[in-house]
Amino acid sequence: MSANTATTILIGGEWREALSRSTFPVTNPATAAVIGWASDGGADDTAAAIAAADGAFDAWAGTTAHQRSGILAQANLIMRGRQKELAALMTSEQGKPLKASLNEVGYAADFLAWFAEEAKRIGGVTIPSARADQRFITMRQPVGVVAAITPWNYPISMLTRKLAPALAAGCTSVLKPAALTPLCAVATLEVLVEAGVPAGVLNMVTTSRAAAVGDTLVESPVVRKLTFTGSTAVGKKLAAKATESLKRVSVELGGHAPFIVFPDADPVRAAKGAALVKFLNTGQACISPNRIYVHRSHYDTFVTTLTERVKALKVGAGETPGVSIGPLIDERAVTKMESQVLDALEKGARVTVGGERVEVEGLEGKTFFAPTVLADVTPEMQIYYEETFGPIAAVMPYDDEEEVIAKANDSEYGLAAYVYTNDLSTAIRVTEKLRYGMVGVNDINPTSASAPFGGVKASGLGREGGYEGIDEYLDTKLVGIAV
Ligand code: NAP
Repeated sequence: MSANTATTILIGGEWREALSRSTFPVTNPATAAVIGWASDGGADDTAAAIAAADGAFDAWAGTTAHQRSGILAQANLIMRGRQKELAALMTSEQGKPLKASLNEVGYAADFLAWFAEEAKRIGGVTIPSARADQRFITMRQPVGVVAAITPWNYPISMLTRKLAPALAAGCTSVLKPAALTPLCAVATLEVLVEAGVPAGVLNMVTTSRAAAVGDTLVESPVVRKLTFTGSTAVGKKLAAKATESLKRVSVELGGHAPFIVFPDADPVRAAKGAALVKFLNTGQACISPNRIYVHRSHYDTFVTTLTERVKALKVGAGETPGVSIGPLIDERAVTKMESQVLDALEKGARVTVGGERVEVEGLEGKTFFAPTVLADVTPEMQIYYEETFGPIAAVMPYDDEEEVIAKANDSEYGLAAYVYTNDLSTAIRVTEKLRYGMVGVNDINPTSASAPFGGVKASGLGREGGYEGIDEYLDTKLVGIAV
């Protein structure tokens, strides 16, 4: 694909250039090499995509649940058949280690499989009336045209987590993927088109001008639903604009997960868990633990074990065997790591491993940051409240349960939280008090296509996946019948 001929915009079943014919480069963050070009869509392309989605809506909404289910099931098979190819593309475009990319493609396909089944379970109810001559029934119907805006950190699974339930419900969509990962988005839509999604049902506008495309989507009265995953700042702005035309809104936003190790837990096991979940995707995950609270009786053991584990993590290009820490997505992310570390050191924290940018021999990418453990973090530090989104584990001691619950809840965010304890009562008592959408109890991955994902407070509105995932794309229609 040359710079002048990128055709990454999908409208009405046709892959095409931007109307302006402009393009933008896509780079590999590990090598800094340009690996492709994307069409730089604008408001005009977006308006055409909305019109295509609107035009395709009645026919798609009129298909049977079994037809839609069949297409999603086929897409699941195609995606799994292409798992290696898609993972290789993801690693080169986003930087995560190949094994993590393979896992993500599997997770993305899980949403296709899950919603293929959920499509067939969309049902209404009958409701008794107070009048003898009346009956009530409800129908569940697709909300209409959906605008889906997705981030770069999970560049395939965040798409299927939205598009699969939209398709299952009978909605048509316009997708705006992240500017940093448009090639993964193209590959995902190719899977869906090949599986039989008809022209106009899925449309996509790639762009480097997010606001132009985003505003056109949220301001359009034709679009009836916004589903967004990304930062809290952008999500709040888009949600506010979307409510002007009273669209349905679901937003999956930032996180700042607490990770609490209780006195009855095994600190070595907890440290191993923390090392695994904290450095997943080089820390660029919304459910990444940001504040690790360890009971003082276990503090030294925990910090020592975590430090040893982190020393063993290999930094490099995602394709290199044994690498578990890829590059950060861009220079801005590295600057944020440097600023959080510097601020913490000035205020009394200790770096036990890492703490700085690293160069990897043979690679031109400049965004590698050493996996880091910061011990003795306090609430005065920037890292304590600000989402890190990088490979820094911030650890601090605590003394009692009430204190740690209050600290854990002292955040604007409320996405994931982690609790390590061997006492069932502690697990339940603490889980009930944590103001978070998801809690992992001795578990570092409380996510699955079959389980509801989402947060409270500034972490978002709505749930994706699980039984709830499809509700976001359905309206309930009440029918009263005089008999
Ligand atoms: P972001 O800057 O908010 O971007 C997310 C998406 O919004 C991208 O497609 C981006 O386009 C687009 N965007 C940015 N500004 C926009 C505007 N003014 N109008 C319309 N669209 C706009 O977030 P990010 O840095 O890419 O992603 C990281 C964030 O996502 C973190 O905070 C993370 O916690 C959160 N996240 C949350 C979840 C969850 O499920 N809760 C999952 C993954 C990530 P461009 O790419 O062109 O900027």
